[in-house]
Amino acid sequence: MTGAERRAALDAVAAEVAACKRCRLHEGRTNAVPGEGNADTEVVFVGEGPGFHEDRLGRPFVGQAGALLDKLLASVCWKRDEVFIANVVKCRPPDNRDPEPEEIAACAPYLIRQLEILDPALVVTLGRFSMARFNPGAKISQVHGTFRPAHADSGAPGAVAFFMYHPAAALRSSQVETQCYADMKGVPDALTAARTMRAAGPVEPAETEAPASPDSDIDTAPVETAEPAEPAEPAAEEAAQSDPTSQLSLF
Ligand code: URA
Ligand code: SF4
Repeated sequence: MTGAERRAALDAVAAEVAACKRCRLHEGRTNAVPGEGNADTEVVFVGEGPGFHEDRLGRPFVGQAGALLDKLLASVCWKRDEVFIANVVKCRPPDNRDPEPEEIAACAPYLIRQLEILDPALVVTLGRFSMARFNPGAKISQVHGTFRPAHADSGAPGAVAFFMYHPAAALRSSQVETQCYADMKGVPDALTAARTMRAAGPVEPAETEAPASPDSDIDTAPVETAEPAEPAEPAAEEAAQSDPTSQLSLF
């Protein structure tokens, strides 16, 4: 697909979402929030569902959690307009309650189509409902900061999924906030691993061979922590870590 074709296909999904009545969440919405971002990106962030401000504006992550997401992106020298941001459910659950399983199931085809269009190398999940789409059965407290091949039914079978706590949880707990920043440091490494995996061609996730490179160790979970790898050459490694311009760029 060309960039223009991807944009048109994403617009078509957004138009369907705006008119959707597949689940009861449509009853309370001001605006559906299909998601937005760069159609040429390698990286998709997936949150849970719209909150108050997102419902008002029809845009994802525009409230306090969004401000924190912007800061997390900035901490690895990435910007919101370089990635795509979507949610598991596209309409706001009343009083910000958790989305129900039947609501998630009703809305899943939209996220799956968005992912099929974007074909990202890396999906960063925010919170447990998003994690469950890409790593069913995992516990967020155990897998945050790690990555593994995305579940085949997620819509992104060729992607690596990286798991993070939800930024809204970080707003409630400074410990979670600190953890989010630490986990975020591992996201560019996960993208490097994802690029390596895609360059090697399609493989069954369960049969991914252990690669030689330490930062593409993607076949076992947890496989990656927020801690940087042992520096082979301390001087060069320190320079890389302290110089933000040396961060992995998306474009
Ligand atoms: N929380 C989410 O999960 N998604 C948003 O878009 C905003 C807040
Ligand atoms: Fe449709 Fe999803 Fe909104 Fe439910 S949450 S009405 S499935 S767009």
